[in-house]
Amino acid sequence: MNKAKKHANIPIFIPHEGCPNDCVFCNQRKITGTTLPADRDIRPEIEEALCTIDPDIYDTEIAFFGGSFTGICRSTMERLLADAYEYVKCGKVRTIRLSTRPDYIDGEILDILSRYGVRHIELGIQSASDKVLSACRRGHTFEQTERACRLINERGFILGGQMMTGLPSSTPGDEIYTAREICRLGAKETRIYPTVVFRETELCNMAQNGEYLPLTIGDAVSRTAECLKIFIRNGVKVLRVGLQSGENLSDPNEVFAGANHPALGELCESAVYLDLIKEKITQLGSVPQDAKTLTVFAPCGETSKISGQKKHNKNEISRILSEMGCRNINIKIKETQLEKYNVDIKFS
Ligand code: SF4
Repeated sequence: MNKAKKHANIPIFIPHEGCPNDCVFCNQRKITGTTLPADRDIRPEIEEALCTIDPDIYDTEIAFFGGSFTGICRSTMERLLADAYEYVKCGKVRTIRLSTRPDYIDGEILDILSRYGVRHIELGIQSASDKVLSACRRGHTFEQTERACRLINERGFILGGQMMTGLPSSTPGDEIYTAREICRLGAKETRIYPTVVFRETELCNMAQNGEYLPLTIGDAVSRTAECLKIFIRNGVKVLRVGLQSGENLSDPNEVFAGANHPALGELCESAVYLDLIKEKITQLGSVPQDAKTLTVFAPCGETSKISGQKKHNKNEISRILSEMGCRNINIKIKETQLEKYNVDIKFS
């Protein structure tokens, strides 16, 4: 029987040197953790990564991240794409993915991307609210985002929508609206980035002046989990929640404040699981008062998220059940074949 291959990613960080935009949260060097120039020979990086990837086990993808890929110098962009495409043509790599800004997408750019075998285009949508985009000095409107999404879908690329929570002027309602809009616009994939305040950014100045209140970890988790639930319900694949731990997050000289936690994604998923279990309990209407055990049936590999950090979820469920008259209950988590983000419960 043919087993589905696992996924391997070769990330190639391409900074947008001399980016004319002025997003308040951005310090490209700190976000990508790279000082490599965009105009470089990426083949050694790809070769080195391929040496560590077994082609019988993995489908491999080259991913251009780190800035606004389609906004860099056109000849550099085409050369980078041509180099990556050689690996697709010879079968060592299956697809190419990139991330860019909505206003750096038009028909001509998409023609170039098609020519070089790009499959996935991730747009830095950040917010569907023009109020928030303007407060972030993002330099484009949501109407431009809608247009870019339409073009990407029409040309048959796989659309990914990246969004942020906790941006200046953004409310939890704006973020829920953004997540819904990303689904409506046909995104198949998403990344959610709770805002981290990097030093040497305008956002850092705003936070120091009291014009911006950075997210606490608790706020970041609750606001991001609400968006996560919308994507899960709509079948949009969540590729990542939170910046990667390598992205200078552990260095206080780099990060001033905000949603800076090494397991932020796991905390958000854990919050989603807690809500799912609460919904199951609510659906029952009442709980058997003499029950000794609550068994939570969980998808494989999700036990620690369901239990919660420092057993937070287990403790919260015990508290809720206790309020419902069911005291001193033992909570067991049993792994099953359920799909991710599904749970079932049984009292005994
Ligand atoms: S986040 Fe904004 S300022 Fe930073 S590289 Fe992207 S477009 Fe330019």
